[in-house]
Amino acid sequence: MSLGSAGNKGGKFMPRKTGIKIASVVFIVFSLTALSFGQGAAKPKIAKEKQLVLDWLGQPQIVETFGKIADDIWRYAELGLQETNSSKLLADTLEKAGFKVERGLAGMPTCFVATYGSGKPVIGLLGEFDALPMLSQKARLPKQEPLVEGAPGHGCGHNTMCAAAAAAAISVKEAMDKYGIKGTIKVFGSPAEEIIASRPYMIRAGLFNDVDAVIDNHSGSGFGTSYGRNGNAVFSVIFSFKGRTAHGASAWSGRSALDAVEIMNVATNYLREHLPLSYRMHYVVLEGGQAPNVVPDRASVWYYVRNTDELVEDTFERVLNCAKAGALASGTELLPVRFIAAVHQSHSNKAAAELYQKNIELVGMPVWTEEEQAFAKALEKELKTAERGMPAKVDPLRIPGPGGDNFVGGGSSDVGDVTLIAPTASIRFPGQVPGAVSHHWSSVACNFGSTAWKGLNAGAKAIAASAIDLMTRPEELKNLRTEFEEYVKKNPYKPFLPADAKPPLDINEELMKKFRPLLEKASID
Ligand SMILES: [Zn+2]
Repeated sequence: MSLGSAGNKGGKFMPRKTGIKIASVVFIVFSLTALSFGQGAAKPKIAKEKQLVLDWLGQPQIVETFGKIADDIWRYAELGLQETNSSKLLADTLEKAGFKVERGLAGMPTCFVATYGSGKPVIGLLGEFDALPMLSQKARLPKQEPLVEGAPGHGCGHNTMCAAAAAAAISVKEAMDKYGIKGTIKVFGSPAEEIIASRPYMIRAGLFNDVDAVIDNHSGSGFGTSYGRNGNAVFSVIFSFKGRTAHGASAWSGRSALDAVEIMNVATNYLREHLPLSYRMHYVVLEGGQAPNVVPDRASVWYYVRNTDELVEDTFERVLNCAKAGALASGTELLPVRFIAAVHQSHSNKAAAELYQKNIELVGMPVWTEEEQAFAKALEKELKTAERGMPAKVDPLRIPGPGGDNFVGGGSSDVGDVTLIAPTASIRFPGQVPGAVSHHWSSVACNFGSTAWKGLNAGAKAIAASAIDLMTRPEELKNLRTEFEEYVKKNPYKPFLPADAKPPLDINEELMKKFRPLLEKASID
């Protein structure tokens, strides 16, 4: 198992296929000659500060250290706002490396900010570490087989993401120490992205107040970035109804709260016909009684109502009307709705994305082993999708929707709110199998071991190199800031989250209480 990311070498030393043969030979000879003179001579265009972070992150023991952190977080498989072990592991790692770590921020015990340096510029790296429910799966097995039946699993690669940010930040610290780079690097340990919950609270608590630019990251199968508007805004809300209990066989004296939930769901499903195509709406019933012979006096349903920034409030109002209709028809009471989250679409900064893209191209796609390719193809075969294997090249810079009329909705992230607070773009780094499905057991199977290690290491290199650019080249940071300030003048940040909403610390408590001991036992076995 070769664990070092060879991507940097691939991008730097390999001649392009399009070049003429002689030029290639000359280039190889030059490269080999330059190599014999040491790395500085081989990479004349890379600033020494950037070279340091790339070399530091390229060390096999560093690849392994942060790979193992990602694997540990994969094993913990902790749901949003229950990420006690994951958050501690990351915060401790940064603290040991010399960062000042503040924990338990913005009303969330697992939220932390790790800071190194002082003064301007302040560059923020985002990092997530929560899992998804019901996705437990054995690592690197190309068929569905849960590690613990019904337990959570890392089906979106968040186990690798704060690990990548931490590795990048520590490498930047090394460069700051060696070359006297001025400024501050911060890692925002961001809980509960899977329930889209933490960033609006972190913004409300002022954690991003002094940040000049943000480098977000997300695990995936490709290596790239994008700019513009992306994904949907979302209101994540629990609707609860209060009825009157009665014997199920003489139910006329009762009023079923479950009836209210069912009527609401029927109404929202009719509503779909009359919503603009950019909406997304899905629900799970959280509570609906415990036995048919007792009329349920309590029932609740959890909705994600998604649409564009412009349309989401109106869409939500119409869903709220469906809830009121359910209560009226069933003779029950709609209790005050509970906001779990409410976030904006992402508005990624073009200048940031263009800068990050250059560093993605510099780092290059990791080189995958035959064994890794075989696993990828076996998983793709099992999923009955094209057998593409692991990708060979980085992606071109992408302009996402909904720029035009063709936007037909999408997922959401609480990074959306951050993009309206500071210039932000996200680096998608590889490691997952292209045919694997996000929020699915197949993604959990990929997010552990060698490909995850290499992918997060390549991501860390692109993040660190971009942070170095922003800290050492004021003109680059100025480009990001100018674009951002113009954008927010027209689109000022107004949180969707109600002012009295509180972080939903309880939402995953029971599930984690049930599965934590089983997961701990499974990882020891
Ligand atoms: Zn995710």
